Amino acid sequence: MAGYQRILLAVDFTDDCEKLVERAAELARRYDAELALIHMVEPVIVDPTYDVLPTLPAGYEQELIESSEARLNALAQSQGVSQGNCHVGVGATKAGIIAKAEEIGADLIVVGSHGRHGLSLLLGSTANAVLHSAPCDLLAVRIG
Ligand code: AMP
Repeated sequence: MAGYQRILLAVDFTDDCEKLVERAAELARRYDAELALIHMVEPVIVDPTYDVLPTLPAGYEQELIESSEARLNALAQSQGVSQGNCHVGVGATKAGIIAKAEEIGADLIVVGSHGRHGLSLLLGSTANAVLHSAPCDLLAVRIG
């Protein structure tokens, strides 16, 4: 089987994400592949007619994007991934991961996967959602 050349790792900044980055970087070294990271910022939709919700400060989303970029760059640096291979998108997580995988021609997507049971299994996971539309192989790394 041919090795992988372009690996895309989806990062959500939870406690397990460093382990995930290490794992993806190890795979990239093994296959001599390029590693790219993506984090998706899901837009905060606030209905202005629903006044019980706290008002979000103006520029909140931009701040979130900038802090995500800084966190992603720091994670990437720890594994020798260049800033040019760090992507922060705004939108639905699954769609953003798939679109980026297509854009960069990824041949492997890596996501974290929690062992799910019961209701949370029914509600689905990111790994499950991505698997059904992935344009390439998907590796779900068990993280808990
Ligand atoms: P879940 O089981 O749905 O909580 O998803 C866990 C995995 O999905 C994480 O380890 C990441 O690989 C990926 N993921 C979840 N949220 C995001 C996000 N906002 N941006 C990028 N990847 C994400």
